[in-house]
Amino acid sequence: MSASSFRRAASAPARTVLDAGAHRLVTSGRVAIALALRELGVQAGDTVLVPAYHSPSMIPPVLWREATPVFYRVGPDAHVDLADLAARIDGRTRAVMVTHYFGFAQDMAPIRALCDAYGIALVEDCAHAFIGEHAGQPLGSWGDYAIASSMKFFPIYEGGALVSARRSLDNVRVHSAGAGFEMKAALNSLERGFAYGRLPAVQAALWLPLRAKGALWGLLKRGRRAPAKALAPDSSDSSFNFDPRWLDKRSSWFARGMLKLAAPARIQALRRRHYLRLDTALRGLPGIRPLHAQLPDGACPWVFPLLADDPEALFARLKALGVPLTRFGHPLWQDADTCPNAAMLARRVLSLPCHQELREQEVDWLVDAVRKAVLA
Ligand SMILES: *Cc1c(COP(=O)(O)O)cnc(C)c1O
Repeated sequence: MSASSFRRAASAPARTVLDAGAHRLVTSGRVAIALALRELGVQAGDTVLVPAYHSPSMIPPVLWREATPVFYRVGPDAHVDLADLAARIDGRTRAVMVTHYFGFAQDMAPIRALCDAYGIALVEDCAHAFIGEHAGQPLGSWGDYAIASSMKFFPIYEGGALVSARRSLDNVRVHSAGAGFEMKAALNSLERGFAYGRLPAVQAALWLPLRAKGALWGLLKRGRRAPAKALAPDSSDSSFNFDPRWLDKRSSWFARGMLKLAAPARIQALRRRHYLRLDTALRGLPGIRPLHAQLPDGACPWVFPLLADDPEALFARLKALGVPLTRFGHPLWQDADTCPNAAMLARRVLSLPCHQELREQEVDWLVDAVRKAVLA
């Protein structure tokens, strides 16, 4: 992208899932899923259709409702297999979850039409798609409910959203989890920012509170009977657990402030720029190809998913070079015999970062590292 076209893209409005409808900011995407299922009245005896290619964190909210997850197939590039989805609908089916993997939109009109035809609810999973649009609408517009994971996109310690363009959220009330949580969320977000080396101005202003963090922690722990861990949900500590005690807790003051300050158009333009730079530079290298041939207009990629022929060897080499990688769906909740494509994707997709805060030299470094690793 040239400098001037970049400036144009960065100043055009960009839409987020919060633009799709009414919303509640909670502490994780899985809490939002649980709230959506609760609002839909999902209960024992019901089934919820879940993609065979999934994050294990999508399943515990279904089990919490005492419902049964039923896995449906995806295609080789992770699009919803609509015929397989339809074939799994029966009298017990209450809802279907559809995921926009890596920020790439699913084809929503036929999925919405199928749900309407059978009278089942649609939960649109925007955990990888906080920003972006499809067919002229923000992602999150098609579901009876949409859910998002803001902590996957912003430098915050916790955060998710429940959104609805179609239903009232009046019954979904959330309140602060308390001063200890607010403080933990703020300090941990700042610490993440520093670890990443990206908040120099704030760093200068706040070195004192950070140095005091250990002492504060000691005080908080001493003042409580409950283990200090309960101050924050374990969804923030790379666990797949779901803890119903966080259902009625609002996202922290700090995280909500960061969302207000965020500039989605800039984030989208930068992520697209990094994605396209990686796409161009990595084309034609042996043993890898991008999962998607094209970056659709309006998409804001979460990461750059690569399909590797020999993923274990490449993963080890990239790790040794210090490349931060994501392996979505590795492991899956259930090694789904249901879907060979899901098993293939869980094994073969390695994702490179295309985060908005990467500098140009860091993207160059990524490209070099991948070249070294595949040509080794
Ligand atoms: C991470 C993730 C979730 C859950 O989000 P959390 O904020 O981690 O609870 C849901 N769906 C998908 C596809 C995810 O990757």
